[in-house]
Amino acid sequence: SKPIVAIVGRPNVGKSTLFNRIVGARVAIVEGQPGITRDRLYQEAEWSGRSFMLVDTGGIDFQENDEIVSNVRHQARLAIEEADLVLFVVDARSGLLGSDEEVANILRRTDTPVLLVANKVENFSLEDNPQFLEFYSLGLGEPIPVSAAEGKNTGDLLDQVITLL
Ligand code: GDP
Ligand code: MG
Repeated sequence: SKPIVAIVGRPNVGKSTLFNRIVGARVAIVEGQPGITRDRLYQEAEWSGRSFMLVDTGGIDFQENDEIVSNVRHQARLAIEEADLVLFVVDARSGLLGSDEEVANILRRTDTPVLLVANKVENFSLEDNPQFLEFYSLGLGEPIPVSAAEGKNTGDLLDQVITLL
């Protein structure tokens, strides 16, 4: 069976946008408001002749802040259990938030390989992304800058994905 790659992260970091970018179609629903997407979860994706199942997590409705954190945590746990690789998405525009650390705490305790993806980087310079360095403190390796919306550096991300499958 095909390896499973799960996209996890707090709401509004761009998980569904990245999912759409990778599967090459507008399958998941992207919303301006955090936490209100109803995502289709699984889609087959392919890169350099290697196919895998991509999972977009976080497609459950929730309203309260506490529920957002616990839902993100729950989704991350479910994803890790079944995934062969986790793409942990953070938002380089907002910088590091407590809910990112919640997810990171779970991911650091597993043997599942994790790629840390810093999304919303349309321009690859530290001057334009002063918050980028904060993500090193998560202890999950080097953040990979991408713009899911514009498809910037997503090819390099996928190159790294398939070397880990
Ligand atoms: P999710 O909740 O993590 O699935 O996030 P979404 O994919 O629904 O995106 C949340 C918001 O971030 C939407 O308004 C997107 O248009 C925006 N967004 C997603 N990716 C990017 C990106 O690469 N750059 C910028 N500037 N905005 C993005
Ligand atoms: Mg989403």
